[in-house]
Amino acid sequence: MTASYEVRGQVGLITLANPPVNGLGLSTRESVYANLRLAEMDEHIQAIVIVGAGKSFSGGADIKEFGTARAMQQPNLLGVIDAIEKSSKPVIAALNGLAMGGGLELALGCHYRVAVLGALVAMPEVKLGLIPGAGGTQRLPRAIGVDAALEMIVSGEARKSELLFELGGQKLFDQIFNSPSLEDFVRSACEFATSISQVRPLPMLRNNLSNSTNQGLLGKTELTKIFESYRENLTKTSKHLPAPFECVTAVEKTVTTSFDEGMIYERKVFLELMQTPECKSLRHLFVAQRNCTKIDDVTPETPLRQVRTVAVIGAGTMGCGISLNFLNANIPTLLIDNSAEVLDRAKAGILKNYESQVSKGKLKEADLHKRMNCLQTSLDFGDLKTVDLILEAVFEEMRVKEAVFKKIDEFAKPGAILATNTSTLDINTIASFTQRPQDVVGLHFFSPANIMKLLEVVRTDKTAIDVLASVMALAKTIQKTAVVARVCDGFIGNRMLEQYVRQAFLLVEEGCSPAQVDQAIERFGFAMGPFRMYDLAGNDIGWAIRKRRYIEQPQLKYSKIGDLICEHGRMGQKTNAGWYDYLPGNRKAIPSPVVDSLIEEFRKQRGVPVRHIPEEEICGRLIYSLVNEGAHILQEGIAARASDIDIVYVTGYGFPAHTGGPMNYANQLGLDLIVKKMQEFAKNPLDDAAFWRPAPLIHQLIESGKLLQ
Ligand code: NAD
Repeated sequence: MTASYEVRGQVGLITLANPPVNGLGLSTRESVYANLRLAEMDEHIQAIVIVGAGKSFSGGADIKEFGTARAMQQPNLLGVIDAIEKSSKPVIAALNGLAMGGGLELALGCHYRVAVLGALVAMPEVKLGLIPGAGGTQRLPRAIGVDAALEMIVSGEARKSELLFELGGQKLFDQIFNSPSLEDFVRSACEFATSISQVRPLPMLRNNLSNSTNQGLLGKTELTKIFESYRENLTKTSKHLPAPFECVTAVEKTVTTSFDEGMIYERKVFLELMQTPECKSLRHLFVAQRNCTKIDDVTPETPLRQVRTVAVIGAGTMGCGISLNFLNANIPTLLIDNSAEVLDRAKAGILKNYESQVSKGKLKEADLHKRMNCLQTSLDFGDLKTVDLILEAVFEEMRVKEAVFKKIDEFAKPGAILATNTSTLDINTIASFTQRPQDVVGLHFFSPANIMKLLEVVRTDKTAIDVLASVMALAKTIQKTAVVARVCDGFIGNRMLEQYVRQAFLLVEEGCSPAQVDQAIERFGFAMGPFRMYDLAGNDIGWAIRKRRYIEQPQLKYSKIGDLICEHGRMGQKTNAGWYDYLPGNRKAIPSPVVDSLIEEFRKQRGVPVRHIPEEEICGRLIYSLVNEGAHILQEGIAARASDIDIVYVTGYGFPAHTGGPMNYANQLGLDLIVKKMQEFAKNPLDDAAFWRPAPLIHQLIESGKLLQ
């Protein structure tokens, strides 16, 4: 039984007890249903309270049941909610904490709702490519009005209970209790239940039409305006996703049709969306996000090294951004550089960042001081002696890293974790500069490090398992999405990116303009095309990598067009000139006549016959180059799972979430089709046929009828 029952005076108390978040899987639904019947049959019971055990009321449907027969098995969630609504005795949902999706829908089916102060409520289905499927789109507007309901259902974001208590006369909750403990809250909820136990008729949201229109304050014109403005915004922000649009239409039904018809519509759309590739992809990412923290040889018993203090060495772009992460979590942070001037600038920059957040109302003044008090700066490596984790972010040169790691090794206490933020250098080599390679790990943050969620955790051949477990725990503390990679050039993300950019350069050489390539891949759904991205990151970074590559692998075919742009000093936004032109202080990419003529001249010199390249080919060449390198990475064990690669690309590189990431996209498209396309691309005389040789893993998977996983 995953819901318990007890009698408290005249109240029947049902407690959802399905850890960790009281998900509404079949067994919980059966238990609630059975206990409801028990309370109904007991003539001493005057009211029924439903509460959650632990910290949550209910996290909603059990995602493992999604799309399976179990989800539909009776009593399904709709059936349970229907039984609650039809109960002859008042049923009170007592939200002791988080109520999400189906959990909130269950509460909406109750006759009354009370909540503890600060309980979070959300309808997050849209994030999985769905609309709420158990009455949420029909009951929530009838509680808080279409405008507030749309805001919650379309965004999927959580709101605090108190914000939904009184919304211009409408409310989601009948009472909010500031209870110090769960027991105290349950007592208050039972007292409330007793106080209303004789009130008839029982209030039901299904009958509460006037609240949808804010008690009639919203006339037909206002309502039309609200729905249309949502649709208009969505065409800009969510054009690849059907679910947000369907949320709007379903909510609209609350003011255009009856409750029962609205419910039928909601169900139909919910089931249709469940079968869309977008929904399957978003669900894939949801599971992938959970799986990427699982590491085969890390178990719950793996000991953790405490990380109470941190030092960051190198107060440049990355060092400052990385420090902000630790300061945001109130972790005392020591920032070290070899220049006092750089340290002063870094401290001022960090303060400015917090001041700007305060001025926008995103941060309290007191928290600014708390965070700044956690920051110390120093020129002296001797100050590292007591620090738990030391993270190096100095220049990307092995000589510099060697000097710094030797110094760290001299001063760090035994057991300190030694991390490097290198993007391209061999961390096995970096670890060998110390007497304790087992303590060394890569923590590859992405720029801007205080904003980007992705963190590649790079385990070397010798990284100790407790170091790995500890940095994964730290990543959680600083709210990063951590994905583990093994050592190779570029790790997961940048190694794949190199192939993608190689194709982008070749496409320009063969006939595309940078804007044409960017627009094609942006229409596919990327946040930013390769040329806008390179201009943002700085073209010199890729240039440095290519120089190294030409020496190491002279046989590889590269378009030198990227070098040409750099040779003309066009490093990107920072020089107001890159693949595009920029006005000072403005990030808008303006197609550049200078670049156009450089490209034209380059093609002439190389004798390249210019051709029109269709959009399908542009996207295909860019995406399949990612897929093929991803397959190599998987085969070599650099990434543990294909879905880890998807998380890296969606979280760190703007790959469209509605495709589920490059590997999921390849699976959905069919690996055999991708091989066929790659064979076509290999015939291009300007390209390198070897580049398009499918990774052996892809052939193996096709032969055995399996997918990238
Ligand atoms: P940066 O040039 O902005 O900063 C480097 C800092 O290190 C400078 O402030 C410099 O004074 C300091 N420094 C150099 N030698 C030192 C020494 N011996 N002792 C103490 N301080 C020293 O560089 P960045 O862009 O912040 O990159 C730092 C590291 O992060 C590199 O390894 C880079 O590959 C990596 N990285 C950069 C990015 C990015 O987008 N910039 C992204 C991910 C990783």
